[in-house]
Amino acid sequence: MRKWPLAVGAAAGATGWAIYNALEPKAQGFGRAFVGTPGEGKLMALTFDDGPNTAWTPSLLEVLAKFDVKATFFSIGHYAREQPSLLREVAAAGHAIGNHTYSHVTMPLHTDETIRRELRRTTEAIEDAGVEMARVQGRRLMRPPYGRRRPGTLRVLREEGYVPILWSVTLWDWNKGITTEKIMRKAERQIRGGDIILLHDGCNVAMGWDRSHSIRSAELILTQWKEQEGFEFVTIPEMIESTGYRDP
Ligand SMILES: [Zn+2]
Repeated sequence: MRKWPLAVGAAAGATGWAIYNALEPKAQGFGRAFVGTPGEGKLMALTFDDGPNTAWTPSLLEVLAKFDVKATFFSIGHYAREQPSLLREVAAAGHAIGNHTYSHVTMPLHTDETIRRELRRTTEAIEDAGVEMARVQGRRLMRPPYGRRRPGTLRVLREEGYVPILWSVTLWDWNKGITTEKIMRKAERQIRGGDIILLHDGCNVAMGWDRSHSIRSAELILTQWKEQEGFEFVTIPEMIESTGYRDP
């Protein structure tokens, strides 16, 4: 009997480890994924998930053009299917496009077969829009929704020809009651250079979701870290290229 508190402690520790590795974007315990080189270097990558979004993606394109910055967009497949011309605009502006599943599934909860279908339908929708997806080392980019993964998820993803991309700076811009001020306080605390910054131009809940705070924050981040501090904002393929990262 005396042993059980220890066993419970060990089990809780193992569970904690599993949760950390399934949820923390920078964790590598469930297999490697690219997160940039946080804390090192002058390169930075802005990434925008869950678009295209008719309400906010056009304004974001204007902001990025104003700063002459190329970003990376992880598109939801069914939005790409619904808004092919908007996605074409994003690609035509020189931004990199990656896969974020067709219906924004939590990948670890699904079978390999479902994950394969989600990935394939998304790439089909993007390519049917006439958009060429970004590639690194011959593979397309993929970001698991919510950053959720387990080793099996990453294996299927790689078998399907994708490089998993997570992030190093979480700004919680999807939170209820978020404001530009709150996002910028989180940015101040986390951005050090070499970062992949997660923001959203859309939302899996509905097309037209309000992303005003995310877009305004992107503008402020570029003002501070590009204009004032001299960081160089690049796409994920450019960042991978210059850091020499090799996906396993
Ligand atoms: Zn997402």
